[in-house]
Amino acid sequence: MEREELEQYEIIDAHAHIFPDNIARAASDNIGSFYGINMKSSGTSRELIESGSRINVKNYLVCSAATKPQQAASINSFIHSCCEEYPSFIGFGTVHPDSEDIERDIEYLKRLGLKGVKLHPDLQKFDADSKKAFEIYEIIEGQLPLLIHCGDPVSKHSLPERIANIHRNFPKLRMIAAHLGGYRHWEEAEQLLAGLENVKFDISSTFAFMTRKRSRELIEKYGTENCFWGSDFPMWSHYTELSAFFELGFSSQDNKRILSENFKEFLGI
Ligand SMILES: [Zn+2]
Repeated sequence: MEREELEQYEIIDAHAHIFPDNIARAASDNIGSFYGINMKSSGTSRELIESGSRINVKNYLVCSAATKPQQAASINSFIHSCCEEYPSFIGFGTVHPDSEDIERDIEYLKRLGLKGVKLHPDLQKFDADSKKAFEIYEIIEGQLPLLIHCGDPVSKHSLPERIANIHRNFPKLRMIAAHLGGYRHWEEAEQLLAGLENVKFDISSTFAFMTRKRSRELIEKYGTENCFWGSDFPMWSHYTELSAFFELGFSSQDNKRILSENFKEFLGI
């Protein structure tokens, strides 16, 4: 990657995870073994900034998942405190569908000033289009955007057909279908999710699993105006993920869109 290439773009990381310092290593290793991937870092806020500053990231969408309903409030206040400490962070909160009071949990994350909800059906162990998850969408539709993890090689909680089903039931829900709509299920994602209104895509955690030609083809199918670049930190380093992105050979206008403009427009920032 050339310096000049880098300097002409404003870069927003639309998908990054952060963990509290005291549990970061364990949390990161846990996710790494879940996906069979060697994590690039342990995932503290400081490490995120260090990794991102190598490519001049301007803003980061940061999130963290509650695997138990009672963790949601403390994780959300953790994300909030990180956003206070690092003004470049844009926090998305976590909700667990098994919560005894989903409405209260969403009220709380809104009160903290978090800008959206991030769900990870496979890690949180629920079907993305289950009745309980629908309660969440019903509340946030028209209020907060959703970033949802899509696709898993083993579990079936977030398959593209479930994401399509969410859209069918909540057409006004503004959502980002992570990992080009279906980690390891890209054929199906392409068929079911391309062209859906209010559904955007991040391209994080995809480069290692397909050719550059295929990446480009998928992004074009979804529309370069509908895709956001993201690192999925601490899964990958910002530098390698951005280098891979430039190898797709999009025009500088498309690069600008995907690296920051689409995302800013989506969040109204
Ligand atoms: Zn994620």
